[in-house]
Amino acid sequence: MSTPRRRTRQIHVGSVAVGGTAPVSVQSMTVTKTADVEGTLAQVYALAGAGADIVRCTCNRQDAAEGLARIVPRSPVPIVADVHNDHRMALAALEAGVQCLRLNPGNIRNPVHVKAIASEARDRKVPIRIGVNAGSLDSKLYEKYGGTATPEALVESAKIELSYFAEVGFDDVKISVKASNVGLMIDSYRLLADTLERDAPDGVGHPLHLGVTEAGPPPAGLIKGTAGIATLLAEGIGDTIRYSLTADPVEEARAGRQLLEAMGLRERKGLDLIACPSCGRAEIDVIQVAKDAQAALEADQLPIQVAVMGCVVNGPGEAREADIGIAAGRKRGHLFVKGKVVRVVPEDEMVQALLEEARLLVDEGVESRLAAADGAAAAEAEKDRQALLVEQGSDANASEQRVDLIRKMTESGG
Ligand code: SF4
Repeated sequence: MSTPRRRTRQIHVGSVAVGGTAPVSVQSMTVTKTADVEGTLAQVYALAGAGADIVRCTCNRQDAAEGLARIVPRSPVPIVADVHNDHRMALAALEAGVQCLRLNPGNIRNPVHVKAIASEARDRKVPIRIGVNAGSLDSKLYEKYGGTATPEALVESAKIELSYFAEVGFDDVKISVKASNVGLMIDSYRLLADTLERDAPDGVGHPLHLGVTEAGPPPAGLIKGTAGIATLLAEGIGDTIRYSLTADPVEEARAGRQLLEAMGLRERKGLDLIACPSCGRAEIDVIQVAKDAQAALEADQLPIQVAVMGCVVNGPGEAREADIGIAAGRKRGHLFVKGKVVRVVPEDEMVQALLEEARLLVDEGVESRLAAADGAAAAEAEKDRQALLVEQGSDANASEQRVDLIRKMTESGG
């Protein structure tokens, strides 16, 4: 990461630290009715398995609050209650034992109600996320800022809520200023981070929860979420993240985890499959082999980077950073570990060989697998590589040949 993470205060959502030096955490939200205890718990477990550190459930009715009282003690991760409109649901959720509340200042507006919640949260030592949303901003702020949700309007909404909390001596807070427009979201968080730092006596602001709200179904929703969240993380802003996708929430949790792993902000927990985009040199259907390899490897959740490369001419070299990989050439697959060929296998055994070697690599480590390499493999592989170079030449895509033809065609046409 080029920009160091900005210093924030640390709060605790149950067992999960947010802010300070804590790793950036992943959140998601259940889509079940919270009153359906077994259904919701099954989803919480699925989200936790996919990478969520914290899960939010709606608390919109009395039966939802009752559900939370049964869900929280059995959940593998801390539970946040999402509360809109009815402040009594926040109090009920606290009684149910949730580890955090999310309040929308746009729709719980009565300061008396806000302070009543904050006092109760303070006494119970439960943090609150001030969850400002561009789509449900307080109408007075819309008017003040000319009928538009601007970064200034979103940040002011958060500050008003903070001031109510301060009146009752409560400051155990994280903040979000989400918008579905990526540019607005980015500008709002930048302004929020600067404002909180400037306002804090010690210059250390509250932890921030990042998200592009209502991003829609994948792949567009994933792209919008990534554009907003990754941009801010790269600037050192953000302590916990959530993708908002119109999809199975497991996809949100998985995307959050994968983004943090890809940015080096969390340790690799699962498979990272890289594959070449294929080109004129490809000796196999790279897309299909990559899909087969992903299906075979994903079930094992091996914490390694695996490469599937379309040809042996450039494949092992281009993927030398990968822990393990396979490249295709002349009806054979070259299996390599850290760029060194360890075995040559028939083409139709490539995926199986990759899976076997990946498991051994995780069990035994790189050095041991390099030591166990087939002594003849490297020479065999080099023979294939040279033969392909002769067959394909250095212009595998036949570009120069095509250029000549195009020239001849256009010249004769003129
Ligand atoms: S040169 Fe080989 S490894 Fe690189 S994109 Fe083409 S087929 Fe894939």
